[in-house]
Amino acid sequence: MTLTGAFRGVVALDGPAGTGKSTVARELARRLGARYLDTGAMYRAATWAVLRAGVDPADAGGVTDVVRRSRIRIGDSPEDPAVVTVDGIDVGPQIRDAEVTGAVSAVSAVPTVRTILIAQQRAVIGAGGIVVEGRDIGAVVAPDADVKAYLTATADVRAGRRGREQGSSGRDAAAAIDRRDSRDSQINPFRPAPGAVEIDTTELSVADVVERLVALSVQGASS
Ligand code: C5P
Repeated sequence: MTLTGAFRGVVALDGPAGTGKSTVARELARRLGARYLDTGAMYRAATWAVLRAGVDPADAGGVTDVVRRSRIRIGDSPEDPAVVTVDGIDVGPQIRDAEVTGAVSAVSAVPTVRTILIAQQRAVIGAGGIVVEGRDIGAVVAPDADVKAYLTATADVRAGRRGREQGSSGRDAAAAIDRRDSRDSQINPFRPAPGAVEIDTTELSVADVVERLVALSVQGASS
């Protein structure tokens, strides 16, 4: 399915780690001729800033101070990797390392961090023409999005996909995902936002999921 002209709406794509969300979101943005925003990368950049400052991620006051004074900037192109900077420093590769991944849920749980980053996310979303991926996009950041989808997959498949991405064993990846899930599910419930379409990606290829989302976006843009 193709669109005539670039997509002007907002697609909110939520779901836990290992569901293929980032790959799907980028490909969907390319297909729609839209921009792309990876909100997880913003929480990761904030976490990198906290660790760089030597602040304990569990110290909410210290975390708030660091995030308030850090200049976190993110590109909106679907090309991989996304450009992410903190105070002008390119942190693209560092925000994916194990130290940041292990601390990101604690930093994301600080309410002021969410307030600051959500305001920035809404500014980027602006007039639309964008695919936005995260955990709370359909419920909190952009509840009026034209298309809302929630991706899921079985725990085994999620661990396998994450392990392949990071070159770790399925068992290590499963343990890391479990730890992050249990913290992340306290910040945002692991369920579709009101009005979101749930897509179980366990048995689907990236191309299948993208095709479904392109169809939903064409419908959403014309309704
Ligand atoms: O999507 P990704 O796995 O890179 O997200 C990293 C972390 O950022 C998540 O584990 C979660 O703690 C946080 N996050 C969030 N809200 C979002 C996106 C990500 O709290 N919208």
